[in-house]
Amino acid sequence: MDKRGRWLVGVVALLMGLQGRALAQADAMERIDALQSLAEKDNQQSLEQLLALGPTLGPGTPYLVRREYLNALMTAQMDAAKLDAAQETIAALLKLAQVNKDDVGVVLATTKSASIMAQAGKPDAAIAQLGAMEAVALRTADAHVLWRFYFVLGSAQLTVGRFEVALENTLKSLQYAKENPKRAQVAHLTSLNLLGNVYMAMTNWDKALQVMEEGLVLADAIGSTRLKGTILLNRGAAFASLGRARDSVASYEKALKIGQEAGLVGLQGTALNNMGDSYLISKDYPKAEALARQALVKFREAGEWGGVATAQSNIGFALMGQGRIREGDAEVRAALRLSQESGAKTDQEAILGELGRMYEQAGLYRDAVATIREQQKLSAQLFRADREQSVAALQEQFDAVQRQKQIELLARANSLKDAEIANQRLQQVVTLLGVVVTVMGGVFVYLLYRRVRRTNEKLREANQQLQFHAVRDPLTGLFNRRSFFELMSKRAVDAVAGRREDDVPDGLLVLDIDHFKAINDSLGHAGGDTVLVEVAKRLRAAVRDTDMVMRWGGEEFLIFSPKANAEHLKNLAQRVLKVVAETPIAVGDTVLTVTATGGFLSLPFSDLSETECNWEKAMQIADMALYLGKVNGRNRAYGLNRLLAPFEQVMPVLERDISAALKAGMVELVEVQGPRGSPGNEAPH
Ligand code: GH3
Ligand code: MG
Ligand code: MG
Repeated sequence: MDKRGRWLVGVVALLMGLQGRALAQADAMERIDALQSLAEKDNQQSLEQLLALGPTLGPGTPYLVRREYLNALMTAQMDAAKLDAAQETIAALLKLAQVNKDDVGVVLATTKSASIMAQAGKPDAAIAQLGAMEAVALRTADAHVLWRFYFVLGSAQLTVGRFEVALENTLKSLQYAKENPKRAQVAHLTSLNLLGNVYMAMTNWDKALQVMEEGLVLADAIGSTRLKGTILLNRGAAFASLGRARDSVASYEKALKIGQEAGLVGLQGTALNNMGDSYLISKDYPKAEALARQALVKFREAGEWGGVATAQSNIGFALMGQGRIREGDAEVRAALRLSQESGAKTDQEAILGELGRMYEQAGLYRDAVATIREQQKLSAQLFRADREQSVAALQEQFDAVQRQKQIELLARANSLKDAEIANQRLQQVVTLLGVVVTVMGGVFVYLLYRRVRRTNEKLREANQQLQFHAVRDPLTGLFNRRSFFELMSKRAVDAVAGRREDDVPDGLLVLDIDHFKAINDSLGHAGGDTVLVEVAKRLRAAVRDTDMVMRWGGEEFLIFSPKANAEHLKNLAQRVLKVVAETPIAVGDTVLTVTATGGFLSLPFSDLSETECNWEKAMQIADMALYLGKVNGRNRAYGLNRLLAPFEQVMPVLERDISAALKAGMVELVEVQGPRGSPGNEAPH
C-alpha cells in the first residue's frame, strides 16, 4: 500500500472508532433510561442492574452519561431506603458537577440531599437548603430539574405544615412534570400524588379525592403499581376522614390486592393495618385483631420495624377490647419497647395515649393514670419542638389566608368605590336638572332623584356587610383574629399617649378544645365544624355584653374581657369551662361531651407597663398556662395572677418552661377545674 493508501485507511479507522464511541454513549444512555423505567415496577431489580452497570463505565465515559448514571443510582438507592449509600452517590455527583461547572448536576444533587434530610426528620433544613438553590434551579431552565426541585420543596413544606406554599410549589412541580421530556407521565403522577396529600392536609377533601381519581387513571395508563397502591392508601384515609368507612375499607382492599399481585409486601402490610384501624375505631375487635396479625407478618417480611410496632400495638388493643387485658398489655408493651429502640418518640406517645384509654375503658384506673403520666412526660419532651413548629406554621397559614382575604376585600371595596363615583356623577346630573326643573318642572327629575337615593341605600348596606366580613369569622360568626389585632393596635396608641385609665385591668382568656382531632376523626370535618359553631354559641352566651369572643385559630378561642378584676376573670374561666363541658353536644345522631383547656391573665399584667409586657407577650404567657393545663389532664384552666420576681428574670424561664417558673416560686398561679366527670383526658371514639 502506498503512503496515501495508508493515510486513508487511518482516517477510516479513526472515523469508525469515533462512531463506535458515540454509539456506546447512546447505548449507555438508553440503558440507564430503561433501568429508570424498570424502577417503577421493580426497584430492587433496577438497583441491582444499575450497580452492575457502574464498573462497565470506564474512565473515558463522557460527563453527561456519568451524571445520568449517578442520578439514576441515587434515586434507586433512596427508593430502596439505602440512605447511606445514596448519600455517597450524591457526594460523588456533586463533586463531578462542580468540576464540570454544571448547574443541572449541582441542583440535582442538592435536591436529592434535601430530600434525604426531609426523610430523616429535618424538613426545615431541607427547605432552607432548597431555598438557597432556587435561583440556580431556575437558571437551568431544565424541566426535569425544576420538577424535582419543586416536588421536594413542596413535600418538605407539607411535612412542616406550611400548606399554602406547599400547594403553590406542588402545582409548579406538576407544571414542570408535564414539560419533562423523559418519563413525563411518571413525573406527572408523582406530583399528582403529592398534590392529593397537600389537599388532604388542608382538609379539602373534595379536591383531594378528585386529584386522587385522576392519579389512579394515570397510574393504570402507565402501569405504575407502586404509585397506584400509595394513592389507594391515601384515598382510603381521605374516605375515613369523611366518615365514609365502607369506601375507605374498599380502597384499602384494592391497595392490598395490588400489593399482593405486585409482591409489594410493605404496601400489603400498611393496607391490612389501616383496615384493622378502621375496625378498632368501630370497636369490632376480633376483626381488628385478625387484620393486625396479618399486617404484622407482612411488616416483618418487609423489615419495616415502624410498621411492626404499630401492628403489634394494634393487636394488643384489639385483645384488650375483647377483655383479654393482660395478654393485650404484653403485646402493647412489646410494641413500645420496639419503638423505643428505634427512637420513634411520636409513635411511643401515641401508643401510650391509646393504652391509657384502654385501661380506663377496662376500669383499671391506676394503670391508666400511670400510663398517662408516662405519656405526658414524653409529650412534654416533644411538645416544645412541636408547638414552636406548629405556631410558625399556623402563622404562615394565617398570613397567607389573610393576604388573600385582604385582596378580595380590596377588590370589593374598589367596586364599591366605582359605584360611588358613578353615583356622584348621577347626583351632579340631578342638580343640573334641578335648575332646569324650575323652568320645566316635571316628574322625570323626581324619578331620577329616587334612584339616587336607592343606590345610596344599597351602598350603605354593602358597606356594612363589607365591614362585617372584615371582622367576623365566617364559620362561627365570632370576631376574627384581625379584629383583635386592630383593637390592640389602637390600645398601643392609647398606651403611648397615656390615655388609658389603668385602675381595673382587662382580662385575656385563651381556650383550646381538647382532643379536637379525635372529634374530627370520629365525626368527620363537618361534624367538627358543628361542634365549633355550638361552642362559639355557648361562649357568647357565657360572657358579658362588653366582652369580645374571638375565634383565634382552628379550634382555639380568645375572650377579651374589659375591666375584669382577678376574681371576675377566675369566675369567667370557671363559667366558660362549665358551659362547654356540662351539656353534651349533639351532632347528628351522636351526642358527645366536649371539654376545653384554658389559660388566662390580666392586661396590663402584674403591675408591668404595657411597654414592658405588651399584649403579644401576655398572650404568649397565657398560651404557656394553657399548655400546662393540657399536660395536667385538660378540662381545666390556669391563670397567672402576678409575678413574684422581677420581670426580666421571670420571662426567660416562663417562656421556656412554665412549670420551672412555678417551682422556683416566680409566679402565682390559680387553677380552675372544669365540671367533674367530664372526660378531659379521654378522646371520643
Ligand atoms: P389537644 O387536646 O392537645 O388540644 O388535642 P387536639 O386534638 O385538639 O390537638 P390540636 O389542638 O393540635 O388539633 C386541632 C385540630 O383542629 C387540628 C385540625 O385538623 C382541626 N381543625 C382546625 N380548624 C378546623 C376547622 O375549621 N374545622 C374542623 N372541623 N377542624 C379544624
Ligand atoms: Mg389547638
Ligand atoms: Mg385542641
